[in-house]
Amino acid sequence: MSESLRAGETPEEAPGGAPVAPGRPMPQPPDGPITERATAVRAPNPSPMTLDGTNTWVLAEPGSDLAVVVDPGPDDEGHLRNVLDTVASAGRRVALTLLSHHHPDHAGGAFRFAELTGAPVRALDPALRLGDDGFVQGDVITVGGLELRVVPTPGHTADSLSFHLVADGAVLTGDTVLGRGTTIVAHPDGRLGDYLDSLRRLRALTVDDGVRTILPGHGPVLGDAQGALDYYLVHRAKRLAQVETAVENGFRTPEAVVAHVYADVDRGLWPWAELSVRAQLDYLGEHGLL
Ligand SMILES: [Zn+2]
Repeated sequence: MSESLRAGETPEEAPGGAPVAPGRPMPQPPDGPITERATAVRAPNPSPMTLDGTNTWVLAEPGSDLAVVVDPGPDDEGHLRNVLDTVASAGRRVALTLLSHHHPDHAGGAFRFAELTGAPVRALDPALRLGDDGFVQGDVITVGGLELRVVPTPGHTADSLSFHLVADGAVLTGDTVLGRGTTIVAHPDGRLGDYLDSLRRLRALTVDDGVRTILPGHGPVLGDAQGALDYYLVHRAKRLAQVETAVENGFRTPEAVVAHVYADVDRGLWPWAELSVRAQLDYLGEHGLL
């Protein structure tokens, strides 16, 4: 889910004045091999909230016949079969499916995908699991030599996870970081304090663990993970200041704050912007700032 970029928020300019989008996105949304171990299969569900469609990620260690699928995407038979074809054409089978979070554009096809693959589904939310295994903090998943570290990143939703693909210096972020614009904090499930902590946790991976690439749940791959996370942190701070100022200026209800702060954003996105505003109002209240 995306909160669209406001005009004038692009923070960098390339030589010659052309704007450089934060995080250095690849020119096209991903479809096909992206890193040595990660291949994207994009679902046909584009919308203002899902950008170019959900990115389903197929991961495998070179030489292994086992694959891990992250976010099978919506319950779309054609898409799920495309994912299976991608795995099979590389001479592999799906050994495990992982879910970044419960939203239906990521998890809606998980049950049908499990029927097609026979592989277990792991998610933070027990209701989404097929099989016995959940996650604990610091989990490392190893499948056919592929190593993925589970990174808890609550905030967009309470059950949001990211997956650190160590060998490729990449992290799969689901909806926590998108390839374009910024994401929403889906109040009341998503909480802003958690989200800011999650952004800092991901940024620490770029400093301490050599993560350079973000493989997002929607939109293009980002080649400058640290730049993207810095942009997200600045964006959230700016938005929070705007909301605080709006309240000080007498905009008291979430609806009124949205109409004021998101005046230049497509009105069709206001219901989702309102979720983010409610999360921000909660955060300000909890910190004694309202
Ligand atoms: Zn989502």
